Amino acid sequence: MADSPSVVWFRRDLRLGDHPALLTAADRGPRAVALFVLDDALRAPSGAARLAFMYRCLRALDSQLGGRLLVVRGKPEEVVPRVAAAFGAGSVHVSTDCGPYGRGRDERVEKALGDVEFVRSGSPYAVTPGRVTKEDGEPFKVFTPFSRVWARHGWREPADTSVSTVEWMDPAAGTGGPEAIRVPDDPRCDASLPEAGEEAALEHWESFLEGPLHNYKRDRDKPGRDGTSRMSAYLRWGCVHPRTLLADLAERSGDGPDTYRTELAWRDFYADVLWHRPETARRNHNPRFDQIQYDTGPDADDRFTAWCKGETGFPIVDAGMRQLLAEGWMHNRVRMIVASFFAKDLHLPWWLGARHFMTHLVDGDLASNQHGWQWTAGSGTDAAPYFRVFNPVTQGEKFDPEGDYVRRYVPELAGVPGKKVHQPQDQPPKGYPAPIVDHAHERQVALNRYGRIKA
Ligand code: FAD
Repeated sequence: MADSPSVVWFRRDLRLGDHPALLTAADRGPRAVALFVLDDALRAPSGAARLAFMYRCLRALDSQLGGRLLVVRGKPEEVVPRVAAAFGAGSVHVSTDCGPYGRGRDERVEKALGDVEFVRSGSPYAVTPGRVTKEDGEPFKVFTPFSRVWARHGWREPADTSVSTVEWMDPAAGTGGPEAIRVPDDPRCDASLPEAGEEAALEHWESFLEGPLHNYKRDRDKPGRDGTSRMSAYLRWGCVHPRTLLADLAERSGDGPDTYRTELAWRDFYADVLWHRPETARRNHNPRFDQIQYDTGPDADDRFTAWCKGETGFPIVDAGMRQLLAEGWMHNRVRMIVASFFAKDLHLPWWLGARHFMTHLVDGDLASNQHGWQWTAGSGTDAAPYFRVFNPVTQGEKFDPEGDYVRRYVPELAGVPGKKVHQPQDQPPKGYPAPIVDHAHERQVALNRYGRIKA
């Protein structure tokens, strides 16, 4: 419809730069309504840190838009058509959502919109899931060949968009639409979170490019150093598009940029796996693992609680679990260690640990999280071999050799010097728990159980 405005519906793309949906909206005409829908189906499982960060990103976006972000609450298939009708919009523009819930939701919204066009463009990934395949069209199940074809496939230049790509309409200009609400106040949250929003993301990225990127390959596995980018929450909420990062990396050479590009390929890989096999958000990718025996009952419950609180008596595990609660984030190496401990020392099902992560991680992303867990538990694509069981003490000594990481998050161990901090049971400090399991014994139990299903 000539002259009718568009709706730009923001979801996990809370930014204005490098945003293809703004271009398709501008193609239809100059005026657009900026919309965000608070959807209880996504809000309910989120912990306080995750929600607080999202609300802060929304406030930042609203401020970039000069207070013109329309926020409504409800089921998207009900409220989005009502917003379109209230403004007489001819089209609704979104970034393609590739996750299982988002795909179903968007199909419902598209149907409910009737004659109003629903326009998907771009995606939260450098290469949209489903595009990188083997020569016979089958999806990749192993990362390394995927990443080679991914790099050859390449990606577009960042889309040239900004706040002035369209004229943002006053949210009060619609008639008869759903009630406009304010972005809710932050829930009570003790975690210390990164600054939210697109400007903060770009500033943070600049300082990573100027500093830690140079030694990224060397330092990225050392949780005691600030060696990684901590861009994951910004990528999760779309405060920045990975293509923007890749364009900056392309202007630089060395093993830092090369290694970083490979990490972004992991993000695309897991999104691709989930796109092809959406049921693996909840189920084992390798169905043989359906037969594995898990521990249940009061002892298993107690161990689960100790793990969640960071009170297992294994310092690197406890430091990681406490970092998660304190910052809504955990270092990648430590994510692998605590997940391995969960699956192979506590014999608990990976999806319970994954759910705890999703509640608390500000960067919680279904594809990276569920498949990071499945990789560690051995049931996923390209998984760690089942006989690889991380020893939490030697992992701590290797990757946190000075013990700085553990001392930062476990105050009971603050007085234990150097790497001795990884074996506190030699001289147990007051208030720190004894190990809740015997690693050597549990390792054997895990190998026996895994060995049975591999047979
Ligand atoms: P950097 O080292 O600076 O990496 C740059 C970016 O590359 C990251 O921001 C991320 O987008 C991507 N990346 C790096 N490693 C991985 C990886 N292994 N898989 C997928 N993407 C990767 N990442 C999430 O974004 N959300 C999650 O919910 C999540 N859950 C995880 C659960 C487990 C059990 C494991 C083992 C890993 C998980 N990861 C998850 C991957 C990884 O731990 C984080 O992306 C990383 O720690 C984020 O910190 P960073 O931005 O400093 O990473």
